[in-house]
Amino acid sequence: MGQKLAKAAPSQAEKSAQRCTNFACGSSYGLLERIYVCPRCGETLEIECSLPHPSDPSTLRRSWAAKVTSKLPRDASGVWRYHDMLPFEENAPFVTLFEGNTPVFHAPRSAKYCGLSDLRLKHQGYNPTGSFKDTGMAAAMTQAVIARARTAVCASTGNTSASLAAYAARAGLQAAVLLPRGQISAGKLAQSLDYGALVLEIDGNFDDCMRLVQEIGDDPSIYVANSINPFRIEGQKTVAFEMMEQVMWQVPDHVVVPGGNMGNSSALGKGFQELLEVGLIKRLPKLHVIQAEGAAPLARLFATLDRGKAAGGENIPETLTPVKDPQTLATAIKIGAPVSWKKALRAVLRSGGQIISVSEKEIADAKAMIGLDSIGCEPASATTVAGIKRLVTSGHIKHREDVVAVLTGHALKDTDYMIKYHSGALSLGPAAKDGSTPSQTISGAFQNAPERVAATKTAILKCLDRHRS
Ligand SMILES: [Zn+2]
Repeated sequence: MGQKLAKAAPSQAEKSAQRCTNFACGSSYGLLERIYVCPRCGETLEIECSLPHPSDPSTLRRSWAAKVTSKLPRDASGVWRYHDMLPFEENAPFVTLFEGNTPVFHAPRSAKYCGLSDLRLKHQGYNPTGSFKDTGMAAAMTQAVIARARTAVCASTGNTSASLAAYAARAGLQAAVLLPRGQISAGKLAQSLDYGALVLEIDGNFDDCMRLVQEIGDDPSIYVANSINPFRIEGQKTVAFEMMEQVMWQVPDHVVVPGGNMGNSSALGKGFQELLEVGLIKRLPKLHVIQAEGAAPLARLFATLDRGKAAGGENIPETLTPVKDPQTLATAIKIGAPVSWKKALRAVLRSGGQIISVSEKEIADAKAMIGLDSIGCEPASATTVAGIKRLVTSGHIKHREDVVAVLTGHALKDTDYMIKYHSGALSLGPAAKDGSTPSQTISGAFQNAPERVAATKTAILKCLDRHRS
């Protein structure tokens, strides 16, 4: 009785905050405030993490390495292993499906194709639901449980809804995916259905679904896990930490990622920046973002930037002109108005990287080349290899420099694309009836169509012989 309890030091989560990314506003909010954009100015939010500052940063590195062989679910996760760098309490209700821990492959054929002596590909398609979204969703669903939500929602036909469905189920939450009625491809939704998500067909278009997701987000039982959610970036930034462990802490000269909604590039940029801040790396790799030509609003803006003025990411334009009707077969990056463009642009400028775009044929051939390296990926991922080829040609990447590209989705996410490519039937957009916009057929350089062979041993051996080099 009467004993005075010492006030506990503020925890990692208490010291972290949600900060508005608009420098002129700079408002700061608690982690438990259920907001998805800045209530004052409407700009996106970023988590300002309380980072550890050990006198010897290598102690952090060693403690992470020791966890790799741990059997504890939290340590075995490629996200939660790096808990020291994340805005969560020590005893948070961590949601995990053993995300992360994705391989880094050497890709000799792709390297040669790009004009490099070596190329490494970190494949985020090896995550539980087959895409890079899982690392971010592990963090977002953990936050949803902390915020006492009952339902997690998003509007997406692709990787995000699959990931949300799986992680919400694992967290014990209801999952709901809002989609425009009559525009749903069952193939794209198969995973969400299997993980038990509620698929709501809305009488409206995709923009209506996005608006509705934001409107229902006001309800305290609902947690919105769209791309705008800043906790997803926190989970995704761990990809930078894991990559550095896998390359033995030798900072690559270049890291290359596809660019759609720009969450991935923002997250990698944040991850590397934080490693620099805690003293685990001494310089940033150049971060390059590659968009598809028909959905390249940021590459267009980047081409017109005054690089001298914008260097360091301080003086960047206030607005981005969206692409009204984005066109690309790489559906995961078919986005005309990327939500995280400012964060990504700042990260690229800070690192001295480039943002460029590549054509549908370049993407398709690069994808087949990644396949020939026995790796495979979804079409959007292949923008990286296509972009690296261009950056080598333009002299931004040198033949012997160290390059790591991030592949975002598994090859089996889009088998239709592969079959069409290899049988010469891949085409972009239906031809207009009046012939004003013809359908663009892609003649792949590495087609591999099935062959019809007679049902005899001789015919088969003859065919094998014909294809031997
Ligand atoms: Zn603000």
